[in-house]
Amino acid sequence: MEYAHEAIAQLAHQVTQVFKAALEQRLASSPAVVTLADVEKEMRELLRQMGAQALSQFLSLGAGTPVAELPCACGGTLHYQRQREATVTSVFGRITYERAYYAGCQCGKGRAPVDDPYGLVPGAVTAGLAALLGLGGIELSFDESRDWLKAFLLFEVSENTIRSETQALGAVQEEREAEVCQQSQDLDYLQARLREKTPLPTWLYGSLDAAKVRIEPRAKEGKKPENTEAWRDMKVGCWYEAEPVPPVQRSTRQRGKFERVQAVFRAKNMRYYCDILEADAFGKLMWGTGCQVKADLVPELVFVCDGAVWIWNLVKLHYPHAVQIVDWYHAADRLERVAQAAFAALTDRTPWLEQVTADLWAGRVTPVIQACEQLAARCEEARQAVTYFANNVSRMKYDQYRAAGYWIGSGTVESGCKQIVTQRLKKPSAQWDVDGAVQTAKARAAWLSGEWDAVCAKRAALPLAV
Ligand SMILES: [Zn+2]
Repeated sequence: MEYAHEAIAQLAHQVTQVFKAALEQRLASSPAVVTLADVEKEMRELLRQMGAQALSQFLSLGAGTPVAELPCACGGTLHYQRQREATVTSVFGRITYERAYYAGCQCGKGRAPVDDPYGLVPGAVTAGLAALLGLGGIELSFDESRDWLKAFLLFEVSENTIRSETQALGAVQEEREAEVCQQSQDLDYLQARLREKTPLPTWLYGSLDAAKVRIEPRAKEGKKPENTEAWRDMKVGCWYEAEPVPPVQRSTRQRGKFERVQAVFRAKNMRYYCDILEADAFGKLMWGTGCQVKADLVPELVFVCDGAVWIWNLVKLHYPHAVQIVDWYHAADRLERVAQAAFAALTDRTPWLEQVTADLWAGRVTPVIQACEQLAARCEEARQAVTYFANNVSRMKYDQYRAAGYWIGSGTVESGCKQIVTQRLKKPSAQWDVDGAVQTAKARAAWLSGEWDAVCAKRAALPLAV
């Protein structure tokens, strides 16, 4: 929207006068040095109070001329009662507005029709505030976000409200995912995608991982906490595209040993999704979200993951044509752990590690397995590595992948796991039940995937019917 410059100037002039008068009055009673920061803070508070009044007046405008009767949802008839006040918490704080209120139906329910198009629920928060509370709640613990948000909003919202609004946004994301999964079962939809003109990326990457979340429900009011602490796997999936990073933009880490000889990529258009689900059910989410990004249609679909069996089983089931690559860093790290466990002396460890790492880099997995076998008798880590490499031989043709220009590191989804699970769900004070953990994680994943606005728009439910 655009506002007339003249109108803004006039309002600003009035604000200045009101502000100046209040400031002079305050200084008269208690003289003090006023900094610019003080002025900003006080003026912001004044504007907040004006906003609250303006929003309240705007909502009351919608009251209109009441009609005598309205049809009730039950089929009966509602009768106009009176102009009735309602209170909601908005981005400007608590506001009260008036609207026509209808009741008197045999079902006993009342209704204020003006609330409906705005998605207003008396006593609750507005959609605009919910979006901001969610932004706090996906980033910090609910307790911390209360203080953090107060600095921006200039009023306090309870920890519980921040929790419930954040998780409500996660529930909206859950609904969106359910719709996508439903759609992916529809043949007409799947075929319609073939006729779409939008160009497909040549290469699409997928990755899956999991991280542990401690489930320990909070004590319900008046009840003792249930003794149900348990660790559950939060599975995280990611779809992304890769673009090469020009040499001048590479970070020090990216200029590491192997990147000197390999193209360095960065991920773009990342989409994360997550849930605490068994592998089968998570596979459905992977298929549904994959259909949305046309993972089944792109010329080259590449999965770069760690070596977990459930992951490759899902990939084989849903995307049998995909190129499967064991993340280079996981594989190389495995060798490092064997070397650490098997050799006490650096003089023995270093040459062994250099040789096997070079073999692996060149896609020569057989000598890597043999080298581990030679250590197997005296080293458990080496025995496990033999199985690991033997099970993944076909996913470790690193020479071929590099030649084909594939990105062989799965840092993207790991960073997703870190950002979603470690950074938010593993905060020291965090206590989660399964739904709370999942919904908070889904809200955070939506933000990281650039889907926040879409989630908030769905939360706001209906456009303003002005
Ligand atoms: Zn009724």
